[in-house]
Amino acid sequence: MNTTLQDLGATAGDVYLLISYLFAAIFFVVGLKQMSHPETARKGNFWAAGGMGLAMVTTLFLYRTPAGHTIPTMNVVVILAAIAVGSVMGAVIARKIKMTAMPQLVSFFNATGGAASALVALMEYSNPANESAVVTLLGLVIGTIAFSGSMIAYGKLDGKVGDIFAKWTTWFNLFLLALIAGLMIYMLAFPHDMATGTKLSYVLLALALIYGIMFVMPIGGADMPVVISLLNSLTGIAAAMAGFIYNNQAMILGGIFVGSAGGILTLLMCKAMNRSLLNVIIGAFGGGGAGIDKEHGAIKEITLSDAAVLLAYSQKVVIVPGYGLAVAQAQFVANELVQLLESKGVEVKFAIHPVAGRMPGHMNVLLAEADVPYTKLMEMDDINPDMPNTDVTIVVGANDVVNPAALDDPSSPIYGMPIIHAHESKNIIVMKRGMGKGYAGIENFLFFNDKTRMLFGNAKDTLQKLVSEIKEL
Ligand code: NDP
Repeated sequence: MNTTLQDLGATAGDVYLLISYLFAAIFFVVGLKQMSHPETARKGNFWAAGGMGLAMVTTLFLYRTPAGHTIPTMNVVVILAAIAVGSVMGAVIARKIKMTAMPQLVSFFNATGGAASALVALMEYSNPANESAVVTLLGLVIGTIAFSGSMIAYGKLDGKVGDIFAKWTTWFNLFLLALIAGLMIYMLAFPHDMATGTKLSYVLLALALIYGIMFVMPIGGADMPVVISLLNSLTGIAAAMAGFIYNNQAMILGGIFVGSAGGILTLLMCKAMNRSLLNVIIGAFGGGGAGIDKEHGAIKEITLSDAAVLLAYSQKVVIVPGYGLAVAQAQFVANELVQLLESKGVEVKFAIHPVAGRMPGHMNVLLAEADVPYTKLMEMDDINPDMPNTDVTIVVGANDVVNPAALDDPSSPIYGMPIIHAHESKNIIVMKRGMGKGYAGIENFLFFNDKTRMLFGNAKDTLQKLVSEIKEL
């Protein structure tokens, strides 16, 4: 005899809900796949958002509690109103935000995701019908750490919060972690009444809040991208925990996708900086000194007309974009320079360092905005072997990612981080406003290299003037 869905107590609505979750999952996978290439990344976002929209709508109208109740109409109205307010706010903020403030925005949005998961867990811990105490407590702790940690990361990227690092922070953080783990074990192992449980969950919340702050506070220098993707991963895991509480497959899947994608990105970023995750989290070098105090010569400048001639008569030119290019919004004029040089028979490529700028993929996004073809964007490992054959490397608003101290100065805070080997090319032109330091706050001896010429000024203005000079040749 065949067992029907009715025999299992499922209604047609339950089946449609599950089917919609299956489609949502497929949309997420297609979206993620498309996001892995700049050309399709935009479409990928729409696919993933479509999957999320579908899961939200079907959950609102088809979900039934284990007791068989649907969501009360009044609650649906309140939820829809909250979605409307959140959507409008999100759209306005995302449209108004400047490209240079994008990393802060990512951190801020990540914080709201962590907070949402933590609030779900906090409420559900006091719900007598909730039987999944372990995932609830894990969701509360991880979501809260993701929230407070991301808010500190936001503050740091926005220049509102400085680094605090002392030897005691590592020990204090380990002590806090032990305290959090101990309290969780106590709450799970020893039965207590609801009122005591609720009080303890607030204590856990407070401890996790402090831990999130103290965990990100000492991390600085070139390590922020790793921390941001790690926090992103934590938010995903917290959302998956919330999904387990409600036994909601779409939420579990969505959370796992974010958690694992963030986790993979974290490891890739660690690799790009040649540091272990543990070293990033407890090593916390933040800024740091100038490395070895070696004697360096004087810097040499180049005039616009000399730079124009040098470039126009080169065969191979590599442009290394960095944070300064983003600040100056110089991506469009950089593309103009590429086209102009190519019309003169010069081969031009962009060398993209994985952590150039202030967020993973920052340079790819900027250059895509200016319609630079993806074929011109070379990854660090692919372009480095070709640097000795490069006639001119133009460093536009980049600093740490071309700092040779990463290769030859063991006392430098960025020692071991792979860099673009600009110093190996035949000539180097560095465009920046002055002798300002990069994110890691250290001196860059590339600027004092015999082959290097400085072209001072705002990157956009300098590039514009350079384009005009080359046109006049
Ligand atoms: P850096 O921050 O090292 O250097 C940027 C340089 O740009 C500065 O030295 C500055 O010099 C110059 N600059 C600033 N504004 C302008 C302007 N308007 N015109 C011209 N130049 C300008 O940037 P990089 O991209 O080389 O390195 C990125 C650093 O940030 C790395 O240390 C990385 O680890 C870190 N980081 C990366 C994140 C990521 O996810 N990618 C996230 C957070 C940090 P001056 O003041 O003299 O003009």
